[in-house]
Amino acid sequence: MKTKILLVEDDDLLRRSLAYRLEQEGYAVATAETGDAGLLAARLDRPDLALVDIGLPGINGIDLARMLLREMSLPLIFLTARRQETDVVIGLELGAEDYIAKPFGMRELLARIRVALRHKLAAATLPVEAPIVAGGVELDPAGREVRVRGERCDLSPKEFDILRLLMANAGVVLSANYLLDAVWGPGYAGALQVLYVHIGWLRQKIEEDPRGPRLIQTVRGVGYKFVAEGATAP
Ligand code: CA
Repeated sequence: MKTKILLVEDDDLLRRSLAYRLEQEGYAVATAETGDAGLLAARLDRPDLALVDIGLPGINGIDLARMLLREMSLPLIFLTARRQETDVVIGLELGAEDYIAKPFGMRELLARIRVALRHKLAAATLPVEAPIVAGGVELDPAGREVRVRGERCDLSPKEFDILRLLMANAGVVLSANYLLDAVWGPGYAGALQVLYVHIGWLRQKIEEDPRGPRLIQTVRGVGYKFVAEGATAP
């Protein structure tokens, strides 16, 4: 079955050309010109991903995203004009996956779409049950046990799930919203404070120096990554 993309954009030329290119890439595309029509289309079609222009007549893109993400779990990418970048921050806090500033190249948009869809897939099928060993940490998904530098470490279920995702993707930055969605579920999209607090607790438990964390590194404005010892800090 084709991957379904909902495109909500009021600029006729852009909407038509994007829809055409996306169909050429093998996606099934539903389009809407307004926020209201976008919401209806999303409810009917249950798209796998939404591309949402921020400046829309009627319900604007931010409000549309708020409604969509409350109702369904899907990656949402904003299409935005440069002057709307403060809106984008609000949108990402709501749980949107990404944004792309106009004018953008098709190749870049397609790459962002593929990443967003991969995240969705990764969240649905959590990584393998084999133990993961990196940076002095041993994590056993089956037994839900963690040893840090040889010593047993008690983690809460959420702390365990966060660490498991970070370790399974060692070296790769996971966005804050991706972690929230994968560990807490869509209802928590945008609850960044919840994640910050848990990352803090996790660092207290696994880092040699929680104030100068080496294993769980913050990538400012994006999220977190697990770095095994010996790797250089960014
Ligand atoms: Ca517009």
